[in-house]
Amino acid sequence: MNNIRDWCISRQIWWGHQIPAWYCDSCGAMIVARETPQACPECRSAALHQETDVLDTWFSSALWPFSTLGWPDPARDLEVYYPTSVLVTGFDILFFWVARMMMMGLHFMGRVPFTHVYIHALVRDAEGQKMSKSKGNVIDPLTVMDRYGTDAFRFTLAALAVQGRDIKLSEERIEGYRHFVNKIWNATRFCSPHLTGLSLESLAADREPDPGDETNRWIISRVGQVIREVETGIEQYRFNEAAHHLYHFIWHEFCDWYLELIKPVLYQENDTEQRRVTRRTLFRVLMAILRLIHPFMPFVSEKLWQITRAGQGSILEAGFPQADDFPEAPLAEKNLMLLQGLIYEVRNLRGEMNIPPSKTVEIWLRCPDPALRELVARYRNNLLILAKGAEISYLGETEKPPAASISSVFQGVEIFIPVKGVIQFEDELKRLEKEIQKSRKDSQQTEKKLANEDFLGKAPAEVIQKEKDKVLVLGKKIEKLEGHAGRLKQLMAQG
Ligand SMILES: [Zn+2]
Repeated sequence: MNNIRDWCISRQIWWGHQIPAWYCDSCGAMIVARETPQACPECRSAALHQETDVLDTWFSSALWPFSTLGWPDPARDLEVYYPTSVLVTGFDILFFWVARMMMMGLHFMGRVPFTHVYIHALVRDAEGQKMSKSKGNVIDPLTVMDRYGTDAFRFTLAALAVQGRDIKLSEERIEGYRHFVNKIWNATRFCSPHLTGLSLESLAADREPDPGDETNRWIISRVGQVIREVETGIEQYRFNEAAHHLYHFIWHEFCDWYLELIKPVLYQENDTEQRRVTRRTLFRVLMAILRLIHPFMPFVSEKLWQITRAGQGSILEAGFPQADDFPEAPLAEKNLMLLQGLIYEVRNLRGEMNIPPSKTVEIWLRCPDPALRELVARYRNNLLILAKGAEISYLGETEKPPAASISSVFQGVEIFIPVKGVIQFEDELKRLEKEIQKSRKDSQQTEKKLANEDFLGKAPAEVIQKEKDKVLVLGKKIEKLEGHAGRLKQLMAQG
């Protein structure tokens, strides 16, 4: 705010604050006053007329931080809320408005009006072009909200709001986050019937630093970390980071893993201690999730809060969850990571050979580490359910795996799945070869396009890059499919 130059504050437009200057029609004197003068101070004439120019818009709006709080009269609002904390604005009016508010704040109030200015991104279309009616690439927020919901739209903007970068908005992105809103909705509706009789108040009374069960300790520990990550993201105005942490945690940890792992416990016939602890943990985690997601999805989180809490108050009255209430459990996290990794490997193997989800498989493990063997034994039921296994068996160090097995290694554990009788080798090989052919054809077509001077000359850089990426992706896909086909041929030779 140094070396600031004077700027002309009068404008010849019909709206705005009229400049408080009057002219005497009798002697020509000019009078500047706070109140409308009744007579000329020079000649006492009452024939006065006010200046018709108005104050520059930015001169008037420079008063905004305090004129909105009751200034110039002494007001309680002014006392409590001035200076404000953060101003959110676009970079194009930094000097027009933001600097002017600072000038006026310093002049009239003796203090700057805010300490942080968040300069938000500009929303552009998917190709990075400025939206304009003539280009026809405008995404109308009202239409989008009707189609995908306000919360999905709001979450999308937060997720794409990388500091210092423009937002490239496309309907596909919004549609993708609408799936996320649905996921939260469905997960909460699934949990609801298991949470009857629980309340935040009763949990506060029996807060469990150690929920006993390892799966519960793991999710509690993860919630604590996510609370910290979301807090940091919001405090540092990195809304996209906060949004991504929430997305990953809710979808890939809470829904994909935690809910799946506890389903057998929730459906136990008797109300065991394990089930009681699990229900309480589920309630605590879900309540934390709804409060964490609230700034990003105010409507859905409120609705789900009311459903889960049977209408006891609004989520607006609930505080933000505190990370310290969710103790860390490094060992539980490590074990659950291992378990997830193992299940992931089995699923991967199944996927490679296109084993239909309805078919269960035998799982053979060669697992020299006794701690890992113990872990597998403890989660045997979960493993069988989530990896669609019929049985888990162990191989000795020198023992041979069953014939015609597909295999993989994870953290020193060798995994074997016999596939004879599970898949039809010839059919599967035919399918793979057909897919390889199709991908090769796609790739050749794209390369042909990229060799075409006409296309290269006319297409925007983004479109060309997209085609180049496509060739790379197809190349990797072909390599992978050929690997699968090669393994399949080996299996056929064995079995
Ligand atoms: Zn006069």
